[in-house]
Amino acid sequence: MTTDEVRFVAEIEDVDAELIRTELAAGRLVIPANKLHLKTNLRPAGIGRLLTTKVNANIGTSSVRSSIEAEIEKMEIALAVGADAIMDLSTGGNLDRTREQLLAQCPVPFGTVPIYQVIEGRDVEDIDNRMILDIVEKQAGQGVDFFTIHAGVLKEHLPLLESRVAGIVSRGGALLAKWMLRHNRQNPFYEMFDDLCDILAGYDICFSLGDGLRPGAIADATDQAQLAELRTLGELTQRAQEKGCQVMVEGPGHVPFDQIQYNMEIQQEICRGAPFYVLGPLVTDIAPGYDHITSAIGATAAAFYGASFLCYVTPREHLGLPNAEDVRAGVVAAKIAAHAADVARGLKGAAEKDRRLSIARANLDWETHLAESLDPQTAERMHREACEKANGGLKPTLQSDYCSMCGKAWCSVRINKEIREAIRRKDPAKV
Ligand code: SF4
Repeated sequence: MTTDEVRFVAEIEDVDAELIRTELAAGRLVIPANKLHLKTNLRPAGIGRLLTTKVNANIGTSSVRSSIEAEIEKMEIALAVGADAIMDLSTGGNLDRTREQLLAQCPVPFGTVPIYQVIEGRDVEDIDNRMILDIVEKQAGQGVDFFTIHAGVLKEHLPLLESRVAGIVSRGGALLAKWMLRHNRQNPFYEMFDDLCDILAGYDICFSLGDGLRPGAIADATDQAQLAELRTLGELTQRAQEKGCQVMVEGPGHVPFDQIQYNMEIQQEICRGAPFYVLGPLVTDIAPGYDHITSAIGATAAAFYGASFLCYVTPREHLGLPNAEDVRAGVVAAKIAAHAADVARGLKGAAEKDRRLSIARANLDWETHLAESLDPQTAERMHREACEKANGGLKPTLQSDYCSMCGKAWCSVRINKEIREAIRRKDPAKV
């Protein structure tokens, strides 16, 4: 059936609605849209290889810093620079109120990790199945569009972690591993998977099957633990789809550049084309403070070879809770990766954006040049500051036929413009 959401996505992506419907039915595309969020302010978005690569921004309080206003500000900045989805990973303060206020102002798909709230105020050892289902049901009733569910990390996978450098770096994965060891029982999310499917199907919430054993160091990439969990995620993908749920699958992590293609291909094979949602991947471990860059390098390759959804990484990854400027830098880096991959895979209309900017740049049309930028606010500020600081100033800035980078006499763009005009006039001597 071609729903309103399918038609909406078809229109904004300029893709045939029937094609989207077919991909959706095959499980290769998802439209995470809780029917309650749809009734308020959600603009549905599609995630899948047929469409533009999407970017998620994680926000949320921590037990050390919790301010709803600060998280709303981060969300607004993330949306302003093009985030296609928001995840609230709050673990501090009033989680229900934070989620409610963020959702009320969030027009894009909104995700959470329910286990974070399950363990709020209690030791992980004390949680039971009823607590898990109650929290999932509660968050579903608030309008969350996709849930990260760490159902793929199993008790039998834990011995495979022995030789790892970084062990388990996923918060959900670590908490569940502790629970399984303490109780000597299977992962409760795995055991209750059918019940979870029933709740999610009831609201049309999309699974984001979490990778609790993702590598957190490049030395751990593509190891037995990661692949064992991936095989379980493949099984769960099929089970959820057979119960009428939409499914995305989460992926690594820290992965050296040369292993990214294999990681994308094996996920597509095992999970039969379900949209792949990757965190990074970070291609090196040695750049804390710059991990938006290490992740954007990996994300470009990931999106080229098979991922559909990129989770941003901020410069403050591994170091602290990101602030609003970190969020901006993280989203922009991930959007660059997404767009670069879309251009490289020849997605309709992608390279056209570059062409528009390039023409404006060649014409020294600063207004269009800045407006077509991925982050116009930053581009405009940098250009203005450079003009103001130039010897004597270059005002009015938008009419300048050079900038402070090379200066007027050395401005190749200006000289090139003169050359082109002379050739057009068939008067080369007057250059
Ligand atoms: S001065 Fe240099 S950087 Fe600035 S527009 Fe000209 S060529 Fe480009």
